[in-house]
Amino acid sequence: MTDTLTPPLPGSPLAILFDAADEFGHVGEDDQREAAQTAALDHIWSCYPGTLGQALDEEDWHGLPAVPDAGLEMCAIACLDGGWWLHHSTGLDDGTGDRGPLLTLIGPCTCGGGYVDTVLDGEDDLLVLLAELRGTGGFRHRPEEPDCTSIQRVRAWGAPRS
Ligand SMILES: [Zn+2]
Repeated sequence: MTDTLTPPLPGSPLAILFDAADEFGHVGEDDQREAAQTAALDHIWSCYPGTLGQALDEEDWHGLPAVPDAGLEMCAIACLDGGWWLHHSTGLDDGTGDRGPLLTLIGPCTCGGGYVDTVLDGEDDLLVLLAELRGTGGFRHRPEEPDCTSIQRVRAWGAPRS
């Protein structure tokens, strides 16, 4: 006779993980799209009230369901002018549930070879970044990161840059 897995204590990290996995395994794609869009709006209204919160409306955000096989969380994207994008993930379905939401600005690299993503850390951070980007016309290519092609950068979506 084999031992059965002891259920995790209620409220323990493992219990929260099991709950999250269970919950997201049963949420339909349309619900995920809506939840992802709502989460993005909540985030920019509360953290970027003077910039993105005013510039972007509900219809600018498109929610996308998670693709667990590809390791992609549910997210929402907003297309900006000039090849710029915003990507928002809730962090709720990353397997731990405690990462928190991530807002990522994706824009063209100055090398012309692809896109670079940067996780935004609030409105002040955005304003500093915008001033920098205005001077360079895009993300400055980093020679130590020669891999800035679209495909590789897309895979890195949601990963915080150090
Ligand atoms: Zn580049």
